[in-house]
Amino acid sequence: MVLMVARTRATELAWDPTVLQESWNLLALGGYGHSAYEHGAFIVRDASGQLHLRSWKFDREFLTAHYRGAIPSGVVAITHTHLNELPMPSDGDQWLARTTGVPVFVLTRMLITVTDGYSNRVVRSGDWRPVQSGNQVSGGCDTTAAK
Ligand SMILES: [Zn+2]
Repeated sequence: MVLMVARTRATELAWDPTVLQESWNLLALGGYGHSAYEHGAFIVRDASGQLHLRSWKFDREFLTAHYRGAIPSGVVAITHTHLNELPMPSDGDQWLARTTGVPVFVLTRMLITVTDGYSNRVVRSGDWRPVQSGNQVSGGCDTTAAK
């Protein structure tokens, strides 16, 4: 039962419009899956219930990303970029999910995957680039207000 709740939440997180946009921005920093230097972030739910990414300081580490310091309050997940050739969570990512107790997402150009520490799964496949219309004003419509 606990696992089912966690799975539902992980899927919900992956489809949240703000998380998706900010994940895309993180992937852009990671060269859209072409950089071996990973970028990491916490997915944090703030006091108003809005989800945001809080990026880790970029350390230019090869095939890894680390966070040092206190974990901020409201963390619901961890996300980070991978090379497109390595879209699934690594053993280290599984360990991270087990020790922190939150799902760990992996962002690549055509996949978003997640691990709960025990199993890996694909939460989005295909082109997940957020749709942006040229005449759309960002911030004009808060689609998360009903949640
Ligand atoms: Zn990883």
